[in-house]
Amino acid sequence: MKCIHCDTEMITANMETEIPSGSVFFLWNKKKGISNPMRKSPVTVYVCPECGYIELRADKPKILIIEK
Ligand SMILES: [Zn+2]
Repeated sequence: MKCIHCDTEMITANMETEIPSGSVFFLWNKKKGISNPMRKSPVTVYVCPECGYIELRADKPKILIIEK
């Protein structure tokens, strides 16, 4: 994947909070109601090594679709 700002090939990297909880980013959706499961998708982080632009991509975006 090319950087949209400077056309350099982007690399993947890990993104975490400073709190050492091992927290990584993921997206989630949940239909209202306690019995409905949380639908999660991991997120892949791409960073441009030239200009620092960061792009986030959901690995499983379709799993986040919930019926209204
Ligand atoms: Zn760039």
